[in-house]
Amino acid sequence: MKWENLRRSRNVENRRGQRAPRTRMGLPRAGGRPVAVGGGCGTIAIMLLCIFVFKVNPLQFLGGGVETYDPAPQTQQTTGQASEIQEFAERIKGSCEDVWTQIFREAGAQYRPAKMVSYSGATRMRTGGVADSRMGPFYLPVEETIYLDVDFFRQMQQQMRAGGDFAYAYVISHETAHHVQKLLGTTEEVFNKRGRIPEKEYNRLSVRLELQADFLAGIWAHYANKDMIARTGQSMMEEGDIEEAMRAAKAIGDDALQYKATGRVIEDSFTHGTSEQRLRWFMRGFQSGNLDYGDTFSVPYSQL
Ligand SMILES: [Zn+2]
Repeated sequence: MKWENLRRSRNVENRRGQRAPRTRMGLPRAGGRPVAVGGGCGTIAIMLLCIFVFKVNPLQFLGGGVETYDPAPQTQQTTGQASEIQEFAERIKGSCEDVWTQIFREAGAQYRPAKMVSYSGATRMRTGGVADSRMGPFYLPVEETIYLDVDFFRQMQQQMRAGGDFAYAYVISHETAHHVQKLLGTTEEVFNKRGRIPEKEYNRLSVRLELQADFLAGIWAHYANKDMIARTGQSMMEEGDIEEAMRAAKAIGDDALQYKATGRVIEDSFTHGTSEQRLRWFMRGFQSGNLDYGDTFSVPYSQL
């Protein structure tokens, strides 16, 4: 993809290279049990959040096997790459802000951009608790903040074979989509049902929310591409970009993650949808650019 022309967001706080925060439980250790990070109520909050957000492997947080994660030591070369990835993340974020500002404006509303914190290893969240790179990128509704360890992109490339700039852009636009859902009240509506309906039903609502975020990520790609063509005469999307999104969706679908972790697939426990569903909703948004097609809540569950 062509991203160098996208506007750089000013809502990104760069905490990369800062020391990991000290918690009540001591320093978070790479390879330690992630549930120990934060402790107390924070643990529950983090658990909820892990189940809800775009994640590396949810089963890691539920007593399954924990993969160790050691950030690579910084060399001059990785520092150079790191600042390029940082710039990339800021420009994708800026583009998401521009697209959603415009869409909200056309609907007579005002868009309030999310904040983004990019960090390495671990960082303290404003509302307490610690964001840890093993959690994968996530959006925290109460802070309206996306926490992104940009080393996750390297992990996508190396461990999930789902690298490529457009795959990374998909991650950022998916998290931004969760912010849009928060502003629209959809997130709260779903969250409020937690504990009030059977878990299986709640999981299905979560799948609907996630697939809608994939749809909205596709909406971003549609308009960001259109805008780039209008401004520069060149398309943002390049050959192979959709394949990158496809590989990313394939690597992060619940079916793929579960199979990788346990060797089997239990559909009732899905919270994000299958790889195929994720891709389908992303493509629906990308191809149509029409928000009316994104109501994942009224489609019968079996037809998602
Ligand atoms: Zn998500």
